[in-house]
Amino acid sequence: MEKILIIEDEEKIARFIELELKYEGYDVEKAFNGREGLELASSQPFDLILLDIMLPELNGIEVLRRIRRVSDIPIILLTARDAVVDKVTGLDGGADDYITKPFAIEELLARIRVALRKRNNSNVMKGSSELSVGSLTLDPIRREVIVDENLIDLTKREFDLLQYLLENKNIVLSRETILQQIWGYDFAGDTNAVDVYIRYLRAKIEEPFGLKFIQTVRGVGYVIKDE
Ligand code: CA
Repeated sequence: MEKILIIEDEEKIARFIELELKYEGYDVEKAFNGREGLELASSQPFDLILLDIMLPELNGIEVLRRIRRVSDIPIILLTARDAVVDKVTGLDGGADDYITKPFAIEELLARIRVALRKRNNSNVMKGSSELSVGSLTLDPIRREVIVDENLIDLTKREFDLLQYLLENKNIVLSRETILQQIWGYDFAGDTNAVDVYIRYLRAKIEEPFGLKFIQTVRGVGYVIKDE
């Protein structure tokens, strides 16, 4: 779940945005002044920050400058109507975008999606971290799996399992190793869970396409390899 920090001293506005973002499926934290916002931003990982400019204790432009010294997290400024100077200073200071209050929530949501997508794209370009086997590719940053140009819908557990198999392509993994890596050491269930999830994966990435990526190694476990 992507996590957004709202730094906004008008609590009613902050709460309204929070409700809308949560409804859209984002995780949200709020800060009501600049200092608190800066502390939160440097103590927890966020995917995006909504930053009001006129803030008590530390103004938004100063918060922006300080965050930019250490992070390139997407930041969207919330500015007052006609505060042209603020916008220019903000964009010069490294903000990704701004939106003028009062705004329609749909517009804010659209700008958030654009900023997050841009960030994801640039991450993909930075470290080509895609994993693949045959006609299947897995993008760990976008958390997307594509088989023969079809986007495949996987649960978190299925995705993590597939990613682990791909990271160890051509290496036979025992059920115990997979269980420890994907379910954690404390998982009390038996290794059947691995077989069950391998079946789920096969039903989504292999069977519809008549392809075979995951091989069963009798008595040992599984390996993913090119056909
Ligand atoms: Ca304000």
